[in-house]
Amino acid sequence: MNTDISKNISSGVSKVKGYVPGEQPQTTDWVKLNTNEFPYPPSPKVREAIIEQLGADGAPLRLYPSPESAKLREAVAEYFGLGREYAFAANGSDDILNLAIRAFSDTSKSVAALQPSYSLYPVLAKIQDASFTQIPFNADMSIPYEKIFASSANIFFFTNPNAPTGIGFPEEAVRKIVEGSNAIVLVDEAYAPFSDWSAAGLVREYDNLIVTGTSSKGWGLAGMRIGWGVASPKIIEVLDRVRDSYNLDRLAQAAGVAALKDRAYYGRMRALVVEQRRLFEEFLDGMGWRYFKSSANFVLFEPANARGERGANVAESLFEFLKGMKILPRYFPNEKRIESYLRLTIGTAEQMAAVKDAARKWAQL
Ligand SMILES: *Cc1c(COP(=O)(O)O)cnc(C)c1O
Repeated sequence: MNTDISKNISSGVSKVKGYVPGEQPQTTDWVKLNTNEFPYPPSPKVREAIIEQLGADGAPLRLYPSPESAKLREAVAEYFGLGREYAFAANGSDDILNLAIRAFSDTSKSVAALQPSYSLYPVLAKIQDASFTQIPFNADMSIPYEKIFASSANIFFFTNPNAPTGIGFPEEAVRKIVEGSNAIVLVDEAYAPFSDWSAAGLVREYDNLIVTGTSSKGWGLAGMRIGWGVASPKIIEVLDRVRDSYNLDRLAQAAGVAALKDRAYYGRMRALVVEQRRLFEEFLDGMGWRYFKSSANFVLFEPANARGERGANVAESLFEFLKGMKILPRYFPNEKRIESYLRLTIGTAEQMAAVKDAARKWAQL
């Protein structure tokens, strides 16, 4: 039957265009540097934990997993040096962002975030029929505190380090935002493993603070969908009301625990990424291309062509040139402030050598 269902759609959802994630080519012949995945495999202990969880015949999969991901919450708490009542786990950190918006926004309770930042936040807010305020960064990409405090948002998202600029902000900045606003403040720390600090410990002091993290960027597990958050027990209780009863499967719970426990392995691998980031920034200096000094595993930079021109067309030209060589960066043609930039995930030494080679060739065209 050909029924018009558009009138049945909830008012929030009827206004939403779905979020469009970065391209995910399903072949392995790409130097894929567009969605900030880790360039190395996860800890070998992760693979072992998954196999152990499966058992000889997969029989453990018959049974529902721990509803609250008990062991994973314990591992998250231990990782951040907090009591387990502060920890939460979910199906990727996007899931937590969504739960936080469901729990803390509606038609009269608004959502705000800085611009530019993660473009999923406004989509999640609209689904909830909540109004969304973009608060532009200052021209020098510093934080417009007074605008944040004046926004009257009920929940404010602070991406730290920021995406897509990669800029990392210090503890004083987070404290100032949390202390100056009446909102629930969610610090999205997807990229904190590549910076030198985390705000997680501050949840002991502030009841209105949520700090989220993910295994996708810093632990090489984007394919598993494991995210976590820490917050005051008051906030955890609210998030527990909204989540799916079994929001993480058995394999993901086991993998997450193994990943968080292997600090030595990830310490070594992240040091390699941070070193490649330094070398890439050095390369950009050599090219005379502008970029934002990064505290994340990517760099946002503004290419200039052989005639010294910059701009959206120039960025697009390098983007297409790299794609022609099977190298995939991220390009944001619809974001005015950064339309002349490309964002490149930091990869292995080999991948970065390929990028630099290609970029040098393009710059001589
Ligand atoms: C990648 C990313 C996430 C999502 O992480 P998942 O755990 O894979 O859902 C959240 N926030 C920011 C800023 C990100 O870049």
